[in-house]
Amino acid sequence: MHKQHKEKPVDCPKCQVRLNEIDAEVPGRKVMIDACPKCNGIWLDKGELKQVIGDRKLADYLTKDIGTKTESPLVCPRCGGLMDYEHAEDVEVDVCLDCRGVWLDAGELSELQDVSDGGFEGDVYYKAAEKLEEMEADRSRTLLERFKRKLDL
Ligand SMILES: [Zn+2]
Ligand SMILES: [Zn+2]
Repeated sequence: MHKQHKEKPVDCPKCQVRLNEIDAEVPGRKVMIDACPKCNGIWLDKGELKQVIGDRKLADYLTKDIGTKTESPLVCPRCGGLMDYEHAEDVEVDVCLDCRGVWLDAGELSELQDVSDGGFEGDVYYKAAEKLEEMEADRSRTLLERFKRKLDL
């Protein structure tokens, strides 16, 4: 019987070093996440944020309806897609527009947990503003950015 590994290992989008699989220490179940040994950032594949913080509402807020605008300089370590910043109060995380994976810098996971514990309800005004900006976004610029990022790799 051949057991296949869940997924390919990924590299840190900031340090370019291989991430280590670690136990997220979620009470009651085993959730493995990928952490950078250098900068202590954390990579969460789609759905893992929800499992780790145990807050569907906050996880959905950060990873759904995120538009097409890309302000983040990061390239998704999982799929090579473009990423954008998403905010929950004053925590800013990077979310992949393609695979919806999430990159958290060191400490952001516990900050998100605090936001969740504080009963974060989501910022509808921010989401609306983001939608508007997106409608005005210049598509050719986005394509150019994508091309430039490809060259940087
Ligand atoms: Zn790193
Ligand atoms: Zn991705």
